[in-house]
Amino acid sequence: MSETLTRIMVVDGSSVSRAILARILRSEIENVEVVTCESGTDAITQLKEQDFDLVTTALLLSDMDGLALSRAIRDTKRHHYTPVIVVSGDADIRLLKEGFESGVTDYFDKSNGYRAFGDFIKSFIQRNTGLVGHILYVEDSRTAAAVTRKILEKHGLKVTLTDNAEQAIVLLDNQSGKDDFDMVITDFFLEGSLTGGDLLHAIRARLHLSQQELPVLVLTGSDDKQKQVEIFHAGGNDFVGKPLIEEVLIARVRSLLLIKHQYDALKQQAETMRWIAATDSLTGVRSKRYLMDNGESYIQNPDLHPLWAMLIDIDHFKRTNDTLGHITGDHVLAELGQTLNQWFPENMVVRFGGEEFCVLIKQQPADAMLDRAEQLRQHIEQLQPAGVDTTVSIGLASTEDHPDCHLSEFLSKADEALYYSKAQGRNRASIFTSEGPQASPWNFSNE
Ligand code: GH3
Ligand code: MG
Ligand code: MG
Ligand code: MG
Repeated sequence: MSETLTRIMVVDGSSVSRAILARILRSEIENVEVVTCESGTDAITQLKEQDFDLVTTALLLSDMDGLALSRAIRDTKRHHYTPVIVVSGDADIRLLKEGFESGVTDYFDKSNGYRAFGDFIKSFIQRNTGLVGHILYVEDSRTAAAVTRKILEKHGLKVTLTDNAEQAIVLLDNQSGKDDFDMVITDFFLEGSLTGGDLLHAIRARLHLSQQELPVLVLTGSDDKQKQVEIFHAGGNDFVGKPLIEEVLIARVRSLLLIKHQYDALKQQAETMRWIAATDSLTGVRSKRYLMDNGESYIQNPDLHPLWAMLIDIDHFKRTNDTLGHITGDHVLAELGQTLNQWFPENMVVRFGGEEFCVLIKQQPADAMLDRAEQLRQHIEQLQPAGVDTTVSIGLASTEDHPDCHLSEFLSKADEALYYSKAQGRNRASIFTSEGPQASPWNFSNE
């Protein structure tokens, strides 16, 4: 949601109540500015000069009552739409009978307690203020467009206007993922070869944008029942009759944007879930599951060759667990995971087993890779992750030595090299070439 400041005015004759309400709002709501007023007159003066997103008022004020204040607020241009919440000791009969007519948006019963007040206002703000969204508005009448656009912008919406469906389709088709449209408002009757109905059809059938992904509100001549049916058939979410009534338009836009924002939130959540499933929560590197799903196509991609498998196994890790405990052991693993992510940001770093990591490294010539592996080994020897003396053994295999292997076969070559490092006394790196294993320090003959 937006990070914008919410300005709330609190009107109450009691200085104690004012202080308590203001304190609750400041502590419960992020990015809030609270202005307090002692009387109705004071409130009206300030409302003329400044913008507020919400007003709360007591029912009884020294100079007028809360309902009269609410009516006065509705009569101003600046705050005609600003929500007014009456905070009263009990649900007064007058409030229930006359409150709505006076323009009171909602009321809060103080006997529910001050804590409930904070929650009430918070959820009210989430539901009601600050329309956030980018609207693609398609309208061929310049006069109608100017009026409607002004209304939308006044309510905080960003509007992109076009006068024909053809261009609207181009704009939708070229969305880049940044500042995309949240909904479309289109006139049904448009000049040019495509109507609003055609635009709807293009959005749903050609661009494959669902009613949740891109809600469409259609503006129609008022009473054409047949058109209304057609609009729903074509995949419109809703319609509003012309001439437009501001409150009706805004209420429809609000509910369609809610659908869109909920859709976005769900999509975001699904992506997070996918990331969690693909990532090992302790070490922050990819899970073995991820390697199994993606590793094969990764190593079969010739553009990434020469490609390397590097297996890294902690030496005598059982001792670390036995002497310092599993929790310390976990910290060691977490820090090593971080280190590997930093060392190989462009490559696939995987937690391969309990205290074993696998990195698939792309496009590396042999000499560079061998140096890098040896540097990594030395780096970890110095690192003391979680304050623990730690060394690792490393095993390497490359697609140059082992072309046309499947993933499991390829990994088993690196595992042979790892086994060799352990057998040679640990804390070293080895490579399994087509001629067999060799351990660091490297001494290849330079023919
Ligand atoms: P080496 O590899 O040098 O032969 O000796 P090692 O002691 O590391 O031997 P091994 O690979 O057999 O043992 C691995 C140990 O790692 C066993 C297990 O207790 C520990 N381990 C595996 N996963 C975790 C984990 O998630 N957290 C902690 N703390 N320990 C783990
Ligand atoms: Mg028209
Ligand atoms: Mg092991
Ligand atoms: Mg080990």
